[in-house]
Amino acid sequence: MAVETAAYSELTDIQRDIIEMVRQFADEQIIPNAEHYDHEDSFPEPIVEQMKELGLFGVTIPEEYGGMGLDLTTYAMIVEELSRGWISISGVVNTHFIGSYLLMKFGTDEQKDHFLPKMATGEIRAAFSLSEPEVGSDVQGIKATAKKGEDGAWELNGQKMWVTNGLGSSVVFVLMKTDPKADPPYKGMTCFITEKEPWKEVNEGDFAGLTVPPKIKKMGYKGVESTELVYDGYKCPPERVLGGEEAGVGEGFVQMMDALEVGRVNVAARGVGIAQRALELALRYSQERKTFGKPIAQHQAIQFKLADMATKIEAARLLTRKAARMKDAGERSDLEAGMAKLLASETGKECVEECFRIHGGYGYSKEYEIERLYRDAPLLLIGEGTSEIQRMVIGKKLLQRHKI
Ligand SMILES: Cc1cc2nc3c(=O)[nH]c(=O)nc-3n(C[C@H](O)[C@H](O)[C@H](O)COP(=O)(O)OP(=O)(O)OC[C@H]3O[C@@H](n4cnc5c(N)ncnc54)[C@H](O)[C@@H]3O)c2cc1C
Repeated sequence: MAVETAAYSELTDIQRDIIEMVRQFADEQIIPNAEHYDHEDSFPEPIVEQMKELGLFGVTIPEEYGGMGLDLTTYAMIVEELSRGWISISGVVNTHFIGSYLLMKFGTDEQKDHFLPKMATGEIRAAFSLSEPEVGSDVQGIKATAKKGEDGAWELNGQKMWVTNGLGSSVVFVLMKTDPKADPPYKGMTCFITEKEPWKEVNEGDFAGLTVPPKIKKMGYKGVESTELVYDGYKCPPERVLGGEEAGVGEGFVQMMDALEVGRVNVAARGVGIAQRALELALRYSQERKTFGKPIAQHQAIQFKLADMATKIEAARLLTRKAARMKDAGERSDLEAGMAKLLASETGKECVEECFRIHGGYGYSKEYEIERLYRDAPLLLIGEGTSEIQRMVIGKKLLQRHKI
């Protein structure tokens, strides 16, 4: 007699409902409009407004601050669905999510009370800034500085680069050098919560000294702006050192690297989402397009491409969810987050390329969605640490865990 077993499902009821809602949102609101905003390279304001209504800016923020209080795993599932629609949409929430993580984990009570309720509704959005014109991978090499003045405020000076949401954000979590003599350098770095006027290039009054140059022109990842930020005598009050002065000065590097770990899971989810969309487009096109008297999906070479894509996506999705679940369970997940980011971003790029090949000449035409995906996917190989850097992280952690 067969033993009755429950149907296999790795989602909770809440996760299933939320995923269904976000998938529908992506199908109805994001995918049909992405081409327009991509073409214009304009901020998708109406889509973002609807995301606020759906509560998507407060997914991981605790309910006491007005958020949904959900875990990283559920968040990663949401990001996958948004990225399946358009990775720029997940870019609008990504740095915001990292900022809220920093506040929840390291912020003082006053900082949490001040920022989290407004962040949960999306009333204010956050950016996250490590990179500089001469520094990306080697974060310990940053040059921007913060110096404490006689009035107690910190004066911030220096140039930051590639700040996603650099113009539209109201708050930027920025890493500055506070002790240039520190050895190793990372011990002399501090994270400041810098406030600014959203969508304003030149800030004045309390936020004077922070300017946002024109947005950087990019091959893809349009719609969400990437900018430089110039701090020139910007005054940051001592209570805006992340975690407070006593606990936070000199801790910025460690805090921001911790946040990058969740950020990597988030980028991994974006890789899975864009790869999934590429597979969907490839499945449809390959059954419509005919060559040599039959749909190209009936040629074994094309079926093998579809098979490899689907297999890699499933592997990347499982690894991404494993890294997220480990983090949610309070376990160390730096190795798994690095692996997930590496596998999923490379899978995103590979699947997009295979889908492009399956489209033949039409893949090169702006008439087809795959053309946008082809320009968007490479970003995931770079942001939150390149594939080379992920391999360095994975290799180092492996050796640490298996020391003889
Ligand atoms: C669209 C976009 C949005 C971004 N958003 C943000 C953001 O919001 N906030 C932020 O702080 N940053 C952001 N970044 C910056 C991003 O994090 C960096 O570009 C990335 O970390 C790589 O740094 P880099 O560009 O300086 O490359 P580099 O560090 O100069 O690296 C160049 C090449 O050398 C390789 N390399 C470097 N060091 C080693 C090594 N030790 N061994 C082997 N190979 C190595 C790299 O893998 C890469 O292939 C964004 C970038 C882009 C393109």
